Amino acid sequence: MATFSSLTDRLSSAFKNLRSKGKLTESDIDGTIREIRRALLDADVAVDVVRSFTGRIRERALGAEVNEALNPAQQVVSIVHEELTGILGAGVDRPLNFAKNPPTIIMLAGLQGAGKTTLAGKLGYWLKDAGHTPLLVAADLQRPNAVQQLQVVGERAGVAVFAPEAGVSSDAVAAGTATPGQDAGNPVQVARDSIDFARQKQYDTVIIDTAGRLGIDEELMAQARNIRDAVNPHEILFVIDAMIGQDAVRTAKAFDEGVDFTGVVLSKVDGDARGGAALSVASVTGKPILFSSTGEGLKDFEVFHPDRMSSRILD
Ligand code: GDP
Repeated sequence: MATFSSLTDRLSSAFKNLRSKGKLTESDIDGTIREIRRALLDADVAVDVVRSFTGRIRERALGAEVNEALNPAQQVVSIVHEELTGILGAGVDRPLNFAKNPPTIIMLAGLQGAGKTTLAGKLGYWLKDAGHTPLLVAADLQRPNAVQQLQVVGERAGVAVFAPEAGVSSDAVAAGTATPGQDAGNPVQVARDSIDFARQKQYDTVIIDTAGRLGIDEELMAQARNIRDAVNPHEILFVIDAMIGQDAVRTAKAFDEGVDFTGVVLSKVDGDARGGAALSVASVTGKPILFSSTGEGLKDFEVFHPDRMSSRILD
């Protein structure tokens, strides 16, 4: 994966020096840990995360039980793998939380350009493929064209869109069963109406796209919170661009405090950014990463498995 390729290279060279060793001394381990630390910091992993991560690796590597099946280098790699999996979400795969009584309500939050609208299409497409009946909701009334962009995304994905101008889903318009929305300018009302609409029309999953700004601002956060409080989502997914660099942690904390999101989506992991900051997000917020977005196409989307990602990074 392009985003982590330099980290992968650096970590693999950190382990290389251990390969020839029969038994590891404390200074071998410290040398390797120094290289791991530098590799992670250069990849933009947050300083606090790096510190506790390398601390745990050092402790475990020094106290490692002799494992006859693994040579010393393999033992260190295996410890790093486990700890990295831990950083990426306690090592637990966390599936999407579906409502017992549909519709399942999923709200997307994040900065402008993070990839929310694109994700809405991918998620809708993925859910439809799994036999669900998703509805995309255009509650981003901030950015010009955002509603239209979601309509295009919905059309491409073959998923209905509830859009505020008409206050109806595009397929309802086509079917001639549309009724105008009550308040096209109010995203909270649009979100609320969309849930009633989904109930009526038996859509089982509602994906609400919300407005993002270039920076964190209180007005945006209050709006997202108001939407959240109006519809009580089962999932609030915070979408973060893997290219955002060191700002990832600050942004994630702000959204965590602002809307108390339930899960993270890493987007643009196909890019050539260093990606480490995004890896810190689960660790810093304690919230799991549910999906990763790997391109602009509808299918460029994966369920996130901490264990597999850790293996890929250490490949
Ligand atoms: P939003 O403002 O959060 O809704 O962000 P958009 O969904 O409009 O995405 C912003 C830009 O990033 C668009 O040009 C998307 O095509 C692009 N984009 C979104 N997700 C990905 C991804 O996973 N990989 C790449 N390479 N581009 C993406």
